[in-house]
Amino acid sequence: MSRQITSLLAIAAVAVSLATPASATAKEEVDCTQVKCIALTFDDGPSKYAGQLLDTLKKEKVKATFFLEGQYVKSRPAFAKRMADEGHELGNHSYKHPNFTELESWAIRSEIQKTQDVIKAATGVEPKLLRPPYGLTSITSSEIAGEFGMPQILWTAGSKDWSSKNEEAIKAQVLEVAEANGIILMHDWVKQTVDVMPKIITLLKKRGYTLVTVSEVIKQYDIQPGDTFPLPDGWER
Ligand SMILES: [Zn+2]
Repeated sequence: MSRQITSLLAIAAVAVSLATPASATAKEEVDCTQVKCIALTFDDGPSKYAGQLLDTLKKEKVKATFFLEGQYVKSRPAFAKRMADEGHELGNHSYKHPNFTELESWAIRSEIQKTQDVIKAATGVEPKLLRPPYGLTSITSSEIAGEFGMPQILWTAGSKDWSSKNEEAIKAQVLEVAEANGIILMHDWVKQTVDVMPKIITLLKKRGYTLVTVSEVIKQYDIQPGDTFPLPDGWER
């Protein structure tokens, strides 16, 4: 190869690398008004199975959202860091999973703040979404979420994985409730959920879904800090 061609190729290589900044490859924009999106969400972790789940998500090149408990981020910070580093979204799911509707305001604030702090320390990321434990919330809880600049994110449907603890049942339930812009509740402490995840992802992809984070799904809606999405039964916007 002549020296001139070699240097032209070198210039071309530089041009290509300039045109593709690292951030663009790390986070591709998905428009959920144009493609069929679904958000898988995993609560109560990081669990001891988080590494296996992250391996699956990485292999399948899909993104998920983890609503983390502060106490487990403290005991398993490396998993939380890996979640953030691999492009998944991290949400706040309280420190020790109390029912927010039975707590005083100061105690709700403390649960949220301690969890924000431990996630920030472990990952460098500050969660922008709150999921109250058990999905139980109140006007007080939503107002406090608003103080932290976060909406409350519930789910459109559950996998019922915590009650069935059965791979076939979990897979069938997820496929049954899957819908465009769905937000599906799952738990990474349920081993059967983690074990069946490759099959669930394959089947969702076959049905045309793009697996994205919660923030990507809700971008199309006007959701403000303090809002709760989807609205619980009986709540008015
Ligand atoms: Zn939970």
